[in-house]
Amino acid sequence: MKLIFKVPVFGLVIIFIFLAGFFTGKSNRSYQIDALSEKIKRSVTGTISDAMHIDGRKLVLMENPELVGQIMKGGSFGNDNFSIAAAQNMFSKDESAIEDIKEKTEVHKVSSNVWMIRMPIVNCTLIETSDGLVLVDTGMKPAGPALLSAIRSISNKPIHTIIYTHGHVDHCYGTWALIEAGEKPEIIAHKNLGKRFRRYIMLRESIAKYMSQPAIQLPNDSTDMVWPTVYFEDELTFEIGGIKFELKHYNGETDDQLFVWLPEKKIMISADYYQGFLPNAGNGKRVQRDVESWIGAIKAMAELKPDILIPSHGGVIDEPRIIQESLLVLNQALEYIFTQTIEGLNAGLRKDQIFQSVELPTHLKDHPLLEERYVTAKDISKMIIRQYTGWWDDIPSHWSPATLELQAKKIVELAGGTDKLVEFCRDLLKEDLALSSHFADWAYDCEPQNQKVQQLVLDIYRQRIMSDKSVTLEMLVYLDHMAMVRASMR
Ligand SMILES: [Zn+2]
Repeated sequence: MKLIFKVPVFGLVIIFIFLAGFFTGKSNRSYQIDALSEKIKRSVTGTISDAMHIDGRKLVLMENPELVGQIMKGGSFGNDNFSIAAAQNMFSKDESAIEDIKEKTEVHKVSSNVWMIRMPIVNCTLIETSDGLVLVDTGMKPAGPALLSAIRSISNKPIHTIIYTHGHVDHCYGTWALIEAGEKPEIIAHKNLGKRFRRYIMLRESIAKYMSQPAIQLPNDSTDMVWPTVYFEDELTFEIGGIKFELKHYNGETDDQLFVWLPEKKIMISADYYQGFLPNAGNGKRVQRDVESWIGAIKAMAELKPDILIPSHGGVIDEPRIIQESLLVLNQALEYIFTQTIEGLNAGLRKDQIFQSVELPTHLKDHPLLEERYVTAKDISKMIIRQYTGWWDDIPSHWSPATLELQAKKIVELAGGTDKLVEFCRDLLKEDLALSSHFADWAYDCEPQNQKVQQLVLDIYRQRIMSDKSVTLEMLVYLDHMAMVRASMR
């Protein structure tokens, strides 16, 4: 059964980049050297603390090996072409990543003149026309050479056109290898992709931090990316070598995303609108996702009634009935979360009351394609609230707050001192882990160097990672916090 065997690779990227430092890769020393040399070019405070962080993460995982298995539960090792070297070096031409991707890339024929190039982490699609090749997406930066060899194993025709489904690093950074090989394609993208590229340069260190990539590898100026040659706004229809292409833009995971529809072949190249689990529409570390528009994209894709769906992550689905069901339940789930959230806002509920009350009905909650693996329905609700309202969380004291450190100091005082608060927390965590974490945070903000407090924080967040209630992205936040605390203990 296709539904069972689909491998949701997307989330693995996140897991591996967080755990990679534990298994293999650069030494901490080389991270620090990278960071220091980077200092010459730009301010690197974030990079140095990130290096410490990676070090702390290694220690935490060595001391708590059970965390690895728990975090991995969100993904699967079942995808045997996964590459740790690639996941660690998504923005670079790192030789080991290049070689590993080359070794692991597979070519699958999907239909006449259409191939999926399945690389570690992400897929590209190649369409052969009488006027040359059309390529949808180019993978991450180290994937370029593998992509070129895969294309040449299929056809020697020139690359006529490349379509970027969106500007994420795993979708459009491999183009350089094709250009270096002498190809001169048109490159088509949504107009917001250019803005995204510029934002990546502006937020270089911040993006490196939230993506756990070495900042030195991120684009430093516009020559580090291959830019589109043609931009469009809502939709674009064209014909190349006798094959029709329809590109349709909807905001979703990004504001520059598009899907590619081949009307004569009834093939849908679905970008990241479809992910095979409750999608990453609630990622608290990333920029705004547009859930309302995402729902529109899913509906539009279903209405076209594809015979074949080629996702960017995971395997091809070639049974129309399964494609319809997959899109239908995804649409229902997102609509449900959206409606609940909007109703909560209009009812004047406090924001935390709104997302706390969102829960999918059982038939959706238990559906195998809607698993709350990386984010929860509540996280998606938080993202919707953020899109339609301001930054204020409805708590009056939070409009112009005292510093967290001052608040923490007074709470510790009120509790009768640090020892008392630690004791209180240790009792509380047996009843309510989430509730006890608030007090542990206050204890830590008040006295970050206190060893009892540090141990309390490590214990609480270890238990939160091990809790069945936690999903992967949340676990990684806890792991990061443990890493920071652990690094400061040495
Ligand atoms: Zn993607």
